[in-house]
Amino acid sequence: MTIRKILTEPDPFLRQKSYDVQKVDDDVRELMNDMLETMYVAPGIGLAAIQIGVPKRVIVIDLSKDEKKTPLYFINPKVIVKSKDNSTYEEGCLSVPGQFAEVDRPNECHISYLDYDGQKKELKAEGLLATCIQHEMDHLEGILFIDYLSKLKKNYIVKKLSKQKKSLERIVV
Ligand code: ZN
Repeated sequence: MTIRKILTEPDPFLRQKSYDVQKVDDDVRELMNDMLETMYVAPGIGLAAIQIGVPKRVIVIDLSKDEKKTPLYFINPKVIVKSKDNSTYEEGCLSVPGQFAEVDRPNECHISYLDYDGQKKELKAEGLLATCIQHEMDHLEGILFIDYLSKLKKNYIVKKLSKQKKSLERIVV
């Protein structure tokens, strides 16, 4: 397993749409293992492949709070139905470091996907898991949670992150 670099806003790559995985093989499993390792180290509770620069429709999530890991793998996830009622969480994102904002999303979502072994599965998620799945599925479309905020707030965050990036680069040079 390799820890990969996580791309951060405003990296244009994060705005790309990801492609369906054609075959769940060892390469895809290696990608998922790397993603999981990268997410644990970060640390975060969800990661989409595009965040490490791979435009494939692959997501890993682990909501466990204790030592015992319970990773979830979603390949080519598709929404079957979402609830009309929303829930609100204060969201952050490994690609938008240090920034948090309240986002409303459907409280439940029913999805189909392929699992780690390429088996077709369905899941009815609610609450935190539903929010996390929807946040990660947005990444597959090139959408970040800051896109749901007011233009003013979004611009402020992007400007702040751009400045951070620049000063980081200066130190490296
Ligand atoms: Zn994210």
